[in-house]
Amino acid sequence: MTGDNRVIEKSNSMVDAGVTAPEARPSNFIRDIIVEDLKANKYGGLVQTRFPPEPNGYLHIGHAKAICLDFGLADEFGGHTNLRFDDTNPQKEETEYVESIMEDVKWLGFHWDGLFYASDYFGQLYEWAVQLIKAGKAYVDDLSADEIREYRGTLTQPGKDSPYRSRSVEENLNLFERMRAGEFPDGSRVLRAKIEMASPNLNMRDPVMYRILHAEHHRTGDKWCIYPMYDYAHGQSDSLEKVTHSMCTLEFEDHRPLYNWFIQQLGIFPSQQIEFDRLNLTYTLLSKRKLLQLVQEGRVSGWDDPRMPTLVGIRRRGYTPEAIRNFCNSIGVSKTNGVIELAMLEHFVREDLNKRVPRVMAVLRPLKVVIDNYPEHQVEEMDAVNNPEDPTAGTRKVPFSRELHIEQDDFRENPPKQYYRLSPGCEVRLRYGYFITCTNVLKNSSGEVVEVHCTYDPATRGGNSPPDGRKVKSTIHWVSAAHAISAEVRLYETLFTREDPNQTEEGQDFTANLNPRSLEMVRDAKLEPSVVNPAVGSRYQFERLGYFCVDPDSSSGRPVFNRTVALKDTWAKIEKRVPPKQQHGRA
Ligand code: ATP
Ligand code: MG
Repeated sequence: MTGDNRVIEKSNSMVDAGVTAPEARPSNFIRDIIVEDLKANKYGGLVQTRFPPEPNGYLHIGHAKAICLDFGLADEFGGHTNLRFDDTNPQKEETEYVESIMEDVKWLGFHWDGLFYASDYFGQLYEWAVQLIKAGKAYVDDLSADEIREYRGTLTQPGKDSPYRSRSVEENLNLFERMRAGEFPDGSRVLRAKIEMASPNLNMRDPVMYRILHAEHHRTGDKWCIYPMYDYAHGQSDSLEKVTHSMCTLEFEDHRPLYNWFIQQLGIFPSQQIEFDRLNLTYTLLSKRKLLQLVQEGRVSGWDDPRMPTLVGIRRRGYTPEAIRNFCNSIGVSKTNGVIELAMLEHFVREDLNKRVPRVMAVLRPLKVVIDNYPEHQVEEMDAVNNPEDPTAGTRKVPFSRELHIEQDDFRENPPKQYYRLSPGCEVRLRYGYFITCTNVLKNSSGEVVEVHCTYDPATRGGNSPPDGRKVKSTIHWVSAAHAISAEVRLYETLFTREDPNQTEEGQDFTANLNPRSLEMVRDAKLEPSVVNPAVGSRYQFERLGYFCVDPDSSSGRPVFNRTVALKDTWAKIEKRVPPKQQHGRA
């Protein structure tokens, strides 16, 4: 079993998009259609769209693309957008999903005009079915599901008429009414449209309109025991809401003739369906069914696990609605399915956070530094810039003292070439602190460095170059040991190891591609004291490490952070190129 042949789109727009104001958004073919329709006064100058989720799971980043289109285009042309739940399948749908979907749409920054449910239309859809039966355009079929499939034929073979296809109108009316009255068991009969069993389009080969299902519906309870098929409900729901431009993904292209057929037979408002490409992202699965499987099998902690591509997941991780909207606008729409690189989404997240998130210093894997010539018990309050991108963000005070934590990674006893951070005899800048030089180290019984001893140069206060103009090649971050706040930090990698998680070996499913290192817990990170009791959801840049967001698992005095996205790390790239043998002295 292999995945589909997807093309990686290396987008050039990565560099310049995102800073593009919404007004300056590049046009796309859907927008062009709307502009033409408005010019031709096709719908009396109106633009009505809808976002039609099925409430059978949580929304993901692919849905965000659809939402940005549906709401974004209507907004741009002074139109309206409905939120409509396509709840025609009572077996998979739940109120929990309805509520989460509403919250997610609002979080993305959109407001719907009408709030509808396909189930609101069950009565109307039933009447229309009766109308089609009376017109000789629909019939009750007693074939089993398997037989219907068999009779349908294939792409190369035409279908065969069901023996029940020529039932009289009276008989059909009678049977359909009794289907509704609950006289027949599940699966024993269906109502089908009478179109054309030899049609080259399989969707037109007398598609099923209604099935018998004695199931409780999340909104209509047990009022109905027959339910319309999605294909019978969708087009008419659009029509009832006078949707002018009904956007959906490409897999519905072949269903459009069927939707149009129902609309024509019934003589109702002619909604226009326009298909666009689904969003696919590398290392990511965008299928509610598969995401549900991950939740049910406990592969992730829930729909809102920060590794999930769900909107609740990436929100918890720290992604912003602005970043997601900028990303969706920049990827545009097309008529062929492709794959966007995850790195591009992350680019938009970084770009947005860079502008507005305060910087702080945090040490994930602490290594103790003692500055031997710094007065014991002295504490200095150093000035630190909150956000170099935003002068109005001001400065804060960071305590400096004799004992500090630095990253284990920022020290090497035997530095490899091109390693300019702290090592014996080497001088570095402590950001906003002083220049320090490593004089010697203390090791434990297994030979690991546990304490680095240094001296500091008082003439470099604030991290400034001394009067002699001496320069250092590296600036590292630090936290005063006595003042530090302990925190848990969760670091994430992609949830899957393969660019296309659906690409698997014979006999495996996508879970074989789960990344065993997708979550790393750092239990005792050290944070500067300005980050005391941060509110859940607040975001920081930990200098040199990345962007982090406070998780709801935090408790008072013990914050928990999710790494939203790392900063670009050039050292990691160099390290990857150097064979492991030449990498000495890893702490
Ligand atoms: P899934 O396969 O994840 O279950 P779906 O298409 O069944 O998705 P719906 O609830 O029916 O989910 O989707 C609501 C709307 O979102 C539809 O118009 C659908 O076309 C659109 N949509 C779903 N997935 C994507 C995606 N990956 N990219 C763009 N639009 C999408
Ligand atoms: Mg669907």
